[in-house]
Amino acid sequence: MTEIERRLEKIYSQTTKTERAEIDRAAKLIKEGKLVAFPTETVYGLGANALDADAVRKIYEAKGRPSDNPLILHVASVEMAEKIVELNGAARALIEKVWPGPLTLVLPAKEIVPLTTRGGLETAAVRMPDNRTALELIRAANLPISAPSANKSGRPSPTDAQTVREDLGDAVAQVLDGGATKIGVESTVIDMTQGNPILLRAGGLPKEEIEEILGTEVLLPQDKNTAKRSPGTRYRHYAPKIPLLLAKAKDAEKLAEGKKFAWMGTSKSSGKPIETLVFENETEYAHEVFRALRRLENSGAEIIIAETPPEKGIGLAIKDRLNRASGD
Ligand code: AMP
Ligand code: MG
Repeated sequence: MTEIERRLEKIYSQTTKTERAEIDRAAKLIKEGKLVAFPTETVYGLGANALDADAVRKIYEAKGRPSDNPLILHVASVEMAEKIVELNGAARALIEKVWPGPLTLVLPAKEIVPLTTRGGLETAAVRMPDNRTALELIRAANLPISAPSANKSGRPSPTDAQTVREDLGDAVAQVLDGGATKIGVESTVIDMTQGNPILLRAGGLPKEEIEEILGTEVLLPQDKNTAKRSPGTRYRHYAPKIPLLLAKAKDAEKLAEGKKFAWMGTSKSSGKPIETLVFENETEYAHEVFRALRRLENSGAEIIIAETPPEKGIGLAIKDRLNRASGD
């Protein structure tokens, strides 16, 4: 038994009979080409059979997602990953250490992956989620499941089942409820097809941890080809209904220019926000950031001001989400 299989065994041993019955029903729907929303450790996903182009098309329709923005294929075993992508040595080293976990690898795709799933690219993105419900669903369906975040395209990602129902409602055949997600921001995406790994999206697994495992630097995407490599990064994302600005706590009052503002961050702001969300540390900031955006847009404020997170560890992922939510 491999280390990953041992980790999975431990996870599966906790599933109850009631949960299994619900998951089996969801797996049947997936096999019939329907959409099922489910929790992962990052955010809730909107899932379909990744190998069925018609099923995958339903994801794009339900979300209103541009069809050239490829999807991540979620797997429940290394064998399943090997059926869809070409693994190399560095990819295997990472997988062994961090799967199941919030790391997505972009690798050369095998023929079996429909072009619809990979947005017409030669590569495909793959990861093993660290969530019991997600793993059980993939295992029961015995198929890789494509799953972007279960929200309307452009809105903050859902971190609980209720938000999924509000955003997608009837478009989904079933919503599996696993409570609030553990991490709160999406997975880290790295391109493993070049010499050095390239960070396509900061996420739940800090870049520093990847560098430590591989003993090589993870490059930041510098050139215009990045947009081509990770089309998702081109689009506006995560946007609340009112404007969002980033600032240091002491600058909030000045930046608000007399407008009613709501504040979120790891410290208190200057001025008098009409609502304040203060998080204990960056981990909690990440855990709450999407829920906070949805809450503060309804606070009666004219603008949201969010504290600029540090550009390291999980802070890099929070900063990326907030920048894109603010339209930068
Ligand atoms: P989402 O499903 O919204 O969490 O986004 C998935 C992210 O992975 C997006 O930024 C995609 O552009 C990226 N992605 C998925 N597949 C590929 C691929 N084959 N090559 C590069 N980036 C990918
Ligand atoms: Mg998304």
